[in-house]
Amino acid sequence: MTATAPPSYVRNQIVVGGRWRDPSGGDVIEVVSPATEQVVGSAVAATVADVDLAVAAAAHAHATGPWRHATMEERVAVVERMCAALEPRLEDVLQLVTWEMGVPIRASRALHRDMAVGSVRHACAAARRVVVEEYREGVVDALVRLEPVGVVASVAPWNGPFLQALYKIVYPLLAGCPVVFKPAPETPLDAFHVAEAFAEAGLPEGMLSILPGGPALGEYLVGHPGVDAVFFTGSTETGRRIGGVCGAAMRRMVLELGGKSAAIVLDDADLSAAVPSLGSGAFGNTGQNCAATSRILVARSRHDELVEALVATAEALTVGDPLDEGTDLGPLVSRRQRDRVEGYTRLALDDGAVAAAPGGRPADLPRGWFLRPTVLAGVDNSARIAQEEVFGPVVCVIPFDDDADAVRMADDSPYGLHGAVHTADEDRALSVARAVRTGTFSVNGFVLNSERPFGGVKASGVGRKYGVEGIREFMEVKTVNLARGAGTFSAR
Ligand code: NAD
Repeated sequence: MTATAPPSYVRNQIVVGGRWRDPSGGDVIEVVSPATEQVVGSAVAATVADVDLAVAAAAHAHATGPWRHATMEERVAVVERMCAALEPRLEDVLQLVTWEMGVPIRASRALHRDMAVGSVRHACAAARRVVVEEYREGVVDALVRLEPVGVVASVAPWNGPFLQALYKIVYPLLAGCPVVFKPAPETPLDAFHVAEAFAEAGLPEGMLSILPGGPALGEYLVGHPGVDAVFFTGSTETGRRIGGVCGAAMRRMVLELGGKSAAIVLDDADLSAAVPSLGSGAFGNTGQNCAATSRILVARSRHDELVEALVATAEALTVGDPLDEGTDLGPLVSRRQRDRVEGYTRLALDDGAVAAAPGGRPADLPRGWFLRPTVLAGVDNSARIAQEEVFGPVVCVIPFDDDADAVRMADDSPYGLHGAVHTADEDRALSVARAVRTGTFSVNGFVLNSERPFGGVKASGVGRKYGVEGIREFMEVKTVNLARGAGTFSAR
């Protein structure tokens, strides 16, 4: 890293119900820079006793506090004040995320400043559009209300830690729910900035807890009897486990899980416009994006041309120091993640894939968990490299015969998170976009849109984040039937 000395980000306390306090145990989570392999910070770990306290504080606030009965406008005002309180901290946050998980500073600015702040503004706009109570005339007139679901356990991954902390806290809060948030152990520090900003904004007591910890703490939290809903983002494997817990407890859940999304390049596509976005879709955040379009399905007649252009794009990317403004690709988040990506690439080559851009560890970067981007051609859609989420800078290119074949191959996947189509023909674009079974889709681009609902189908999850839909996930419908005197009620 270009900095002369590594920073030391230290958090000695946790947040329970909006108050800073010592945790009940003494374990410390070390934060290791994936670029230098040095320890650059630490956070004290919360314990199950802290989860008990945080859930109790949240349940008490929900039962007795003002937030549940506040109007949407009152909640939005607090969130907007929080957003203003974040502004002066954002430059520090960008650096922190870069040290924590290696995202290049330029990308960090786009994701953890522009998109993060944008996502909060969009959340406020969406909240204003939620119809909280509606009078419906009928055989029996009724009020149909949306009420906050109760205590929300939010559990996040490491791959976009500040953005994820923000939306996983803000959406349930806007719905009227207290939040107990557990960050990933790789990135335990960012959410504290959100808690500080909410404290300055005057969020009522009990409404927010930040509990750093690993899988065991997460498992205890999502299974806690005081939790009413779970908002989880992470792997499909963990999501299935949490889904089982929520099913048994009859608990509402939003699960944002993995993906193996396909970008479809039709025979009429303008490759000079498509290839840069195919590059970002495959290699952005070093491929550690749930929405990454890590399978590229291309019309057979354009296959060789596309592979050549993608290889040129991959080879032009600068891999290196994430603090350097010129860096395109930082390291993988951990040694384990790099080993996993290398394992998948070896497997693909053993299965007969051709490494058009070979990837591998850059010789000039002896420290850090760096990999150059890999482009694999000659891949069969049924191969493991095309079916399983790699979560690294590896893309496979697979030819198809016609549009129907492309849709069939895109859908031949356990996942259904995202996807894209590139074509000069609007009608063909929309017909492909409507046919593919995913929760999100982009036309002629790779778009991460925090203004509209986002989520997956099949093994990519249940429920949606963002938009009005993202707030309604944390609200229950209550019908109040007005058996007598409906005329009087409607006059109100
Ligand atoms: P992970 O499932 O290993 O961990 C995610 C979080 O869950 C961490 O905080 C972890 O400590 C916690 N956890 C682990 N086991 C748990 C359990 N049994 N009960 C409760 N909590 C538990 O995932 P990861 O490796 O941190 O993140 C990468 C994954 O996240 C990828 O699969 C990626 O696609 C997915 N992801 C999805 C989206 C989306 O919007 N769909 C967004 C970002 C990341």
